Amino acid sequence: MAYCIMSDNYVKVQLEQMKSLGEVGEKREGVDNEEQVPASSPSADPPSITISSSDASNTSITSKQRGKSRSKLAKDDKNSSGKSISDLSLHGSVVSVPAGKNLNRLGQERTLHIRGTGKILQGKAESNGNYVTIQPSKNIPDARREESLKLARKRRPVTVDTAKAKTSLEALKISIKQLKWKEFPLGRRAPCDIYWHGVSFHDNENIVSGQVNKFPGMIEMLRKINLSRAMRTMQELFPDEYDFYPRSWILPEEYQQFSTQIRMVKEKDATLNPTFIVKPDGGSQGDGIYLIRDPSELRVMAGSQAKQAVVQEYIQKPLLIDKLKFDIRLYVLIKSLEPLEIYIAKEGLTRFCTEPYQEPSQKNLTHVFMHLTNYSLNVHSGNFVHSDSQNTGSKRTLSSVLYRLAAKGVDIKRVWSDIIALVIKTVIAVVPELKVYYQADIPPGKPGPTCFQILGFDILLMKNLKPVLLEVNSNPSMRIEHEQEMSPGVFEYVPSPVDEEVKVGVIRDTLRLMDPGLKKPASSQPRAERGEEIPMEAETPARSPDDGALPSLCLKQVYPKYTKQFNCLRLVERTAALFIRFLGVKGNMRLGPTAFRTFIRTCKLSNSNFTMASVDILYIDITRRWSGAVPDSREAGMGLQAFVEAFFYLAGRRFKSLPLREQVLSLLELCEAQLESQSSVEERRSLSCSRAVSRAAKTQTPGLGANPQLNSPAPLRRAASQDYRLQQKLRPRTLRANVEN
Ligand code: ADP
Repeated sequence: MAYCIMSDNYVKVQLEQMKSLGEVGEKREGVDNEEQVPASSPSADPPSITISSSDASNTSITSKQRGKSRSKLAKDDKNSSGKSISDLSLHGSVVSVPAGKNLNRLGQERTLHIRGTGKILQGKAESNGNYVTIQPSKNIPDARREESLKLARKRRPVTVDTAKAKTSLEALKISIKQLKWKEFPLGRRAPCDIYWHGVSFHDNENIVSGQVNKFPGMIEMLRKINLSRAMRTMQELFPDEYDFYPRSWILPEEYQQFSTQIRMVKEKDATLNPTFIVKPDGGSQGDGIYLIRDPSELRVMAGSQAKQAVVQEYIQKPLLIDKLKFDIRLYVLIKSLEPLEIYIAKEGLTRFCTEPYQEPSQKNLTHVFMHLTNYSLNVHSGNFVHSDSQNTGSKRTLSSVLYRLAAKGVDIKRVWSDIIALVIKTVIAVVPELKVYYQADIPPGKPGPTCFQILGFDILLMKNLKPVLLEVNSNPSMRIEHEQEMSPGVFEYVPSPVDEEVKVGVIRDTLRLMDPGLKKPASSQPRAERGEEIPMEAETPARSPDDGALPSLCLKQVYPKYTKQFNCLRLVERTAALFIRFLGVKGNMRLGPTAFRTFIRTCKLSNSNFTMASVDILYIDITRRWSGAVPDSREAGMGLQAFVEAFFYLAGRRFKSLPLREQVLSLLELCEAQLESQSSVEERRSLSCSRAVSRAAKTQTPGLGANPQLNSPAPLRRAASQDYRLQQKLRPRTLRANVEN
């Protein structure tokens, strides 16, 4: 029996995608190869973007640092400031750049200033995070005003534990200082409001309150293979919506599919000679990445082990500036998972290659400075240009690049909205699994912190201006220094004004948004009843009494702001909600066979055509295949991705005539309706029991309610305990301790 629902549909999706990603200029206006910026579309004015000269007040926060760095960067300045962009002499090799008529203007220190929307404040946040309503003074009795001022003075500042901040420490310190919050560089015994972790949620164990800047499972979820899997699931459901992610194959398990599909493509059209980029699963900073033109060139083995990697279609026609390939690093804040809240930083970075770009050929495949935009690689090229300016050099601000494109007539409003859509869709793809991790680490009802996280999106603009997602970094570098070769072979970290400008803004404004005093009221308390104005919009600057110097927020809320457009994409998340519900024993991430049966029974999915014996076979078949695909899995059982595959299979069986998306939606609705009717039955039952329970309350054993199994409905509890016993038998001894803890 073949349960792999991916094959047919997937090949179709992939072939479609190949067309859309491989060749450009089909749907969109092309950009010519020289400057690669179309001269049309003069209206390049996104809603919150204005073009202005460099604004001194805007950069005042960093001016001191910059002064310091300037002297250190004197050598560098000679390289950058003395030359116009149109004639950049790079360590002997002259890169001639066609001098567009706008270039002189651009050579000057001009920046694209992206403003917040500057909403009028109805309330203001104290530096300690408490929210105080401000109303016109004539409406407030003096006594009340006095009282609230007194209260504000008494409140303690927001506390931040920075002991584990690692390389973000410098930017974090500056941010905390600007906010006048209190830093605990060595941690402290009493709980802090915010814990800033440099690597993972688990950097500090046993945090039971406050907020942590990392989600459990984010690192795992954003590894290249996992991200590719999540994107693929979405591509199967919504091929047109998810065409921004290059088609990818997972190695070693999909080596055969990869070879066969490429052979088919080449047979169909002999002129096609696609290039592929191979990326090791756990890699970062360009480590171990290489380009190939034929599956036979894959380096499949690492010692005696097959290499875990993603092989991905290489985007052959990127947008070039100054003949160089570049990518965008965009900072995205996931403020909360439930409800989902996403913010995008209006300012980001662009990282430039250091060798002029040519389309891949057998000759240039190994030229990393031409094909890979990683800062960590290019900084070691003799051609890397450090610059204090935001719009020259090998690392520039996103706004300076957008400004440049706008000046050339590019519709940057459209580019920006495409980027926002890409971000929201990507987050929607990874949220389901994140929720599984979240409930395992912080089960509902157990004390624990809430989480938020800044992610680094790496985005490439194609020549036709379509943004393509390369990867998402769970730990984007927040360093505000860069490595510089002071003398041959001797590198030092020196302040980088461009990094500081962008990264301090992102960290500071993330903190402002996470200010504990700005928390929304519990949903049980409707806003109208509270009679307070709650700042719901990101653009509303969170001001403390003396933070007048702070600029407006650089983070813009994009979700739920744009819920309407994207909510229909959250089908896998609804499937994950079913999965989590049937996990039973809290802290688990995998479904046991009995819990899977319970799911089928409760949702009434078996019948004479699909017996419980078939259910068991389905479970065994899918689980076995996935346990091979995820070799480092610590728990036995069915993980979310395997469950999603099983769910799609069931949907296909039940609603044969519909397209996959409708099949899944129909099955979801069916399951949700069954569960709803079941819980109302349970509710009625518990209501009728409540009188008896209240009579027995006096003799109730304390702590009974803390047992998570007892909080689940009866069939779930039974399934959970049966699975638990079964898994105890199957599990190797060494793992038991982990599970029981
Ligand atoms: P890493 O985590 O090692 O940086 P990335 O996926 O970001 O891996 O890839 C490194 C670089 O390779 C990117 O910054 C980009 O310049 C280039 N790159 C990655 N994927 C593609 C692709 N599909 N097409 C073209 N260039 C790519």
